[in-house]
Amino acid sequence: MHVLITGGAGFIGSHLAEALLQRGDSVAVLDNLSTGSFQNIAHLVRLPHFSFAIESLDNGLVLDRLASQADAIVHLAAAVGVQLVVEQPTETIETNVLGTHAVLAAARRYRCRTLLASTSEVYGKKENVPFREDDDLVLGPSSRSRWVYAASKLLDEFLGLAAHREYDLPVTITRFFNTVGPRQIGRYGMVIPRFVRQALAGEPITVFGSGEQSRCFCHVTDVVQALLALLDRPEETAGQVYNIGSNEEVTINELAQRVLQATGSSSPVQHIPYSQAYAPGFEDMQRRVPDIRKIREAIGWQPTRSLDQILQDVIQYERQRVTTSDPQTALHS
Ligand code: UDP
Repeated sequence: MHVLITGGAGFIGSHLAEALLQRGDSVAVLDNLSTGSFQNIAHLVRLPHFSFAIESLDNGLVLDRLASQADAIVHLAAAVGVQLVVEQPTETIETNVLGTHAVLAAARRYRCRTLLASTSEVYGKKENVPFREDDDLVLGPSSRSRWVYAASKLLDEFLGLAAHREYDLPVTITRFFNTVGPRQIGRYGMVIPRFVRQALAGEPITVFGSGEQSRCFCHVTDVVQALLALLDRPEETAGQVYNIGSNEEVTINELAQRVLQATGSSSPVQHIPYSQAYAPGFEDMQRRVPDIRKIREAIGWQPTRSLDQILQDVIQYERQRVTTSDPQTALHS
């Protein structure tokens, strides 16, 4: 299979590219390196079944050419990270909505199997966990730019599902719940790489709010396995939305302690009000737990790696990054 990965130089995209190449597929990456990094794919560029274009989705000619050669498109390119989205709401809407529109139009021209990345953010302020794919969604007001991300990804979902219904395009939507692992950068929020870097540097661990909010973190290797299986099963999964995440829940206070323990660091824990960490009036989700029965029943997928394994892998990666003082990733720290 020939797979086009938009956002393929990003954190999830580069892991997916590796896994596809490993199983014998060919891969083209389209990425404008806004939050991705060439370093993430540098080890792949000489491989015979790999190609890349450093370009944005709004270059219709490049997108068209790449789509015309692809059997499948995995659309991961997006404005990501709460901090980035709060700071740049206009760009977030344009990148996410116009970008997805362009990808779906190209996919329709060449009948490409398409996976669209969405996010657990679309569940918004819903309180009764676990979240199921057909639950009602509870977003905050449009006066708070925090909700731009959820609203833009939700529109992407509507576009994808409409392309399936109206044009019979085999589109599947994946809602990721806090995917983590090596290569994720802490610059735009992302709590685990931030805590690990802070712990290793002996700097304070910055816990936002009370720290009693909780999350479920899923290893990127598990997420990639889900994407591979979904790519292979269009008949069963086209026109569907799937949660992809772990249900091992941890509070952010507890996470800070686990990072300290796993790194052996004596960094202090510092609580920072949301208004200082993000923007005045920022609303955080208190709990976020996926119900993953739907994807398990459809393709037999469930996560296999624990939070301890995730922390070990991120710590090992960050230690190595510091020793080799990789200039590219250092830029993003
Ligand atoms: N967070 C934190 N300290 C940080 C970065 C994040 O306490 O330095 C918190 C954040 O407020 C949220 C959780 O950690 O409650 C997860 O944040 P992340 O940005 O990783 O993902 P989110 O769940 O917000 O999409």
